[in-house]
Amino acid sequence: MDMPEVDVIVVGAGNAATVGALSARENGASVLQLEISPEHYRGGNSAFTGGAWRIVYHGFDDLARLIPDINDHELSNVDVGTYTEEQYYDDVGRLTEYRSDPDLTEILITQSFDAGLWMREKGVRFQLGLGRQAFKVDGKFKFWGGLACHIWGGGKELIKSLGARAAHEQIAILYETPAVALLQGDNGVAGVRVRHKGRLVDLRSKAVVLAAGGFEANTEMRARYLGPGWDLAKVRGSRYNTGQGLRMALDIGAATAGHWSGAHACAWDMNAPPVGDLDVGDRFQKHGYPYGIVVNAKGQRFLDEGADFHSYTYAKYGGEILKQPGMFAWQIFDQKTVHLLRDEYRIPRTTKEKADTLEELAGKLEGVDPRGFLETMRAFNGAPRPDVPFNPNVHDGLRTTGLAIDKTNWAQQFDTPPYEAYGVTTGITFTFGGVKITNSAEIEDTSGMPIPGLFAAGEMVGGLYYHNYASGTGLMAGAVFGRIAGKSAAAYVRMAR
Ligand SMILES: Cc1cc2nc3c(=O)[nH]c(=O)nc-3n(C[C@H](O)[C@H](O)[C@H](O)COP(=O)(O)OP(=O)(O)OC[C@H]3O[C@@H](n4cnc5c(N)ncnc54)[C@H](O)[C@@H]3O)c2cc1C
Repeated sequence: MDMPEVDVIVVGAGNAATVGALSARENGASVLQLEISPEHYRGGNSAFTGGAWRIVYHGFDDLARLIPDINDHELSNVDVGTYTEEQYYDDVGRLTEYRSDPDLTEILITQSFDAGLWMREKGVRFQLGLGRQAFKVDGKFKFWGGLACHIWGGGKELIKSLGARAAHEQIAILYETPAVALLQGDNGVAGVRVRHKGRLVDLRSKAVVLAAGGFEANTEMRARYLGPGWDLAKVRGSRYNTGQGLRMALDIGAATAGHWSGAHACAWDMNAPPVGDLDVGDRFQKHGYPYGIVVNAKGQRFLDEGADFHSYTYAKYGGEILKQPGMFAWQIFDQKTVHLLRDEYRIPRTTKEKADTLEELAGKLEGVDPRGFLETMRAFNGAPRPDVPFNPNVHDGLRTTGLAIDKTNWAQQFDTPPYEAYGVTTGITFTFGGVKITNSAEIEDTSGMPIPGLFAAGEMVGGLYYHNYASGTGLMAGAVFGRIAGKSAAAYVRMAR
């Protein structure tokens, strides 16, 4: 293969990589992207997303800068609230048990709004997340979970817009060209060894940005780092995030950071395919459990479905399902809340049962002990509750007391048939461990020094997530640190000239 040397090679073509490529280009560098997947499967995990976008905003005026085409009718019907820096810090701190790297967290949060404006300038459009993060109560939609803003058209449109902009900026992409190793010279990283059309080829560059995702699609690494059982999880997104980028960096002495035994995983249809299907995107997920209950093979509840809005619990509850016998669960709802279930509950490929009585439903839940299930339902319905109204837009305090595991919000009784049940298992989204980076997205070596010419962004970066995750952070982290990585790589190239 005859390729002229470029300033910066970017490994990957997901959100973080393409943002990195655009940022390097904007800062004067010539850029080449390498992508392992074929073109029709491009976009990595980013293409699978619903586009939730966790951004700081102080009210409607800020959102209007990102969504200028919002109309008056929408405006009069919504209460977007705020999502201030303080709220963002609180969420990240609480969910990560205060382990998140303070520098990276500060950069993520304080640069989030600016990253949104930058993405818009690059052609990405935004919308209100009405169908997913707000319910209509008393004639008005009220947003919860810090996620009023979504990328218009979700991940597919995100990748389309960024890809179009990259093509416009003459950034070449080699598809079906996995990076297999980093080349080193006297002054640091000097390019990437790839496999192209069956041959190993060395592509030279002055700097490299790695944005090749985590190791969620690598069964062996999941078992090794996350622990027993994780090899059996379904992969929600790309089959190509197998940890190769991480391995390449570790092979030349990169330092690791973050929660290597931790991962983002949620409730995912029990009959979903082993890896993601781009036509279905994220809709095998089942995030409506706060308004129902979840039972395991014994028919028993094993978590507090109402601990918080799903945005703050879903990413750790996949790991709870993994611990259950048979690694599956059923989510149960009655007609009082079925209308609150998101679009993902209405796709044709959904594992669903319906019955007019709980006894009839008990016989239909494959793998579940019917007696255990009916006992659970009797106890749940009989548990004392305060006399407060159900309200899905706030923590309503409608909780049970006296159960082995209480449900602490939205705990209505099951009394309005037909009852519906949805079968789920563990779907892994991405892994939390990664490489250690400086505030300029340089990858550090094990002695704490930046490896000259090597940068990282996206899922590959360790230190942001521990134990849990606030939805909509992954794309934002990719945008914020992709932008920094591209800019830093271009600056490094200028200095090296
Ligand atoms: C179903 C689903 C829904 C999600 N929903 C949201 C959401 O709404 N909001 C949100 O913020 N986050 C969401 N996420 C998380 C989000 O997708 C990730 O955090 C983010 O997209 C990661 O971006 P990235 O660029 O680091 O990785 P990716 O987008 O996965 O890109 C990595 C790229 O590297 C390529 N690659 C891998 N190895 C190599 C190699 N050796 N050589 C060359 N290329 C390679 C891959 O093919 C891929 O294209 C979701 C994830 C999934 C799976």
